Amino acid sequence: MNLVWHRADLRTHDNPALDAALRSGPVLGLVILDPSILEATSARRRAWFQANTLALRESYTRRGTTLLVRTGKPWEVLPKLVADLGIQKVFAVQNSTPYAKFRDEQTEKALGGRIGWFEGQYIQEPGEIVKPDGGAYTVFTPFSKRWWAADWGSPLESPQRFPPVHLPADYPLGDIPQEQSDVELPAVGEEKALGALEAFLRDKLPTYHQTRDGLAGDGVSKLSYYFTLGVLSPRLAAQKALSVGGEGARKWVNELCWRDFSGDLLFHRPQMMHQTFDPRWNHLPWNDDGELFGAWLEGQTGIPVVDGCMRQLRQTGFMSNRGRMVVAQFAVKLGLLPWQKCQRAFRDLLLDGDNASNLQGWQWAGGLGVDAAPYFRVFNLSTQAQTHDPKGEWLKCWVPESGGNPEPYKDPVLDLDFARRRYLAAAERIAKSR
Ligand SMILES: Cc1cc2nc3c(=O)[nH]c(=O)nc-3n(C[C@H](O)[C@H](O)[C@H](O)COP(=O)(O)OP(=O)(O)OC[C@H]3O[C@@H](n4cnc5c(N)ncnc54)[C@H](O)[C@@H]3O)c2cc1C
Repeated sequence: MNLVWHRADLRTHDNPALDAALRSGPVLGLVILDPSILEATSARRRAWFQANTLALRESYTRRGTTLLVRTGKPWEVLPKLVADLGIQKVFAVQNSTPYAKFRDEQTEKALGGRIGWFEGQYIQEPGEIVKPDGGAYTVFTPFSKRWWAADWGSPLESPQRFPPVHLPADYPLGDIPQEQSDVELPAVGEEKALGALEAFLRDKLPTYHQTRDGLAGDGVSKLSYYFTLGVLSPRLAAQKALSVGGEGARKWVNELCWRDFSGDLLFHRPQMMHQTFDPRWNHLPWNDDGELFGAWLEGQTGIPVVDGCMRQLRQTGFMSNRGRMVVAQFAVKLGLLPWQKCQRAFRDLLLDGDNASNLQGWQWAGGLGVDAAPYFRVFNLSTQAQTHDPKGEWLKCWVPESGGNPEPYKDPVLDLDFARRRYLAAAERIAKSR
């Protein structure tokens, strides 16, 4: 009997680890509730993970086998389970954040090597797309050219039935806690994710390239919830989108390339977790102003577009990509707030919070060296609202005090002209210091 250890791949479709395990015999599934990850994040994100773990257990049960759940350090939990059940081999989809690499090395050692690693979290795994000289890419466009030309392989079908496994009658399957979320969770599980993908491809993909940038987030897929936990296969989603075809499809799949680029950046530069991609930007005159940080986080700055985005995030767990760029740029460039503190708080409010995409997003929007995004681009916040919410309806919904007007609705917490000049003066000094 083999064991499939699901981590950021809470699905049975297009799952290369599960496919390989099934080829060599009966399979049990396993999810480990790892306190190092779960205790360090928010209740809403734990609830989303737990709900999708429960859905995966139901997927296993419907197919005639069992998903076990255990809590603890994987390198302690797994050897015990393997010995208890006489497991031949563990199969898992590889992950590549700094903690995941540490965890998996420890676990592989503890299992004496009886674990096989498979691709499946990305379309092209971190480290696979390299320059002709073997080096890592730091700029998106050349990375994307290689990415589009690479072989993606074909998505794997979800197995309909698993061979039965025989566990002792009283063998504990392990409880899955169901924590209360402070926001409404999206529909849970891979069947719902596949349904949401179909609806997006039918209704929104054709116009995605024209509507994707709205602050309301109406023209986008909102599938990031599922990609983050691997409830939906990005390779399957990309392939289905490309079979629809058109400019919208090309643009959308290119966003999945950004996801892979984010994973690749963090894989090659784990220091991105704490430091700016270009170390020179560590020297910006950071200003750990608690009042400003609180106003930003609570959506009370007085600047409608910033407050609308942050209130939407707090109340729904989602924010549009345009909104994410606006609030990150406000915090980093205008506020000079310590970006790590903002990024962590922001990530934990997102149901799709993902270290690689989040760090890339923050360091790109903040001009901290990712993809050579120019440091001197500082958004005009009123123009951002006017352009990406021209009727002011999104603004009216999230900041009723503004009446849909993009100008400050009260004395803003920051003098924006002063803040822009302060940032540009510091940034120019740093940019010249080669
Ligand atoms: C400051 C900042 C923080 C971000 N934090 C996260 C995060 O924690 N988790 C996360 O999944 N995405 C993050 N993003 C990227 C992006 O904003 C979201 O993936 C996207 O808004 C999710 O909505 P969607 O699924 O409707 O995307 P769609 O527009 O439908 O795009 C499809 C998919 O492509 C991927 N994608 C899209 N844009 C990006 C991007 N810029 N970078 C990486 N992948 C992308 C996502 O997986 C997304 O689901 C961040 C961006 C910024 C600027």
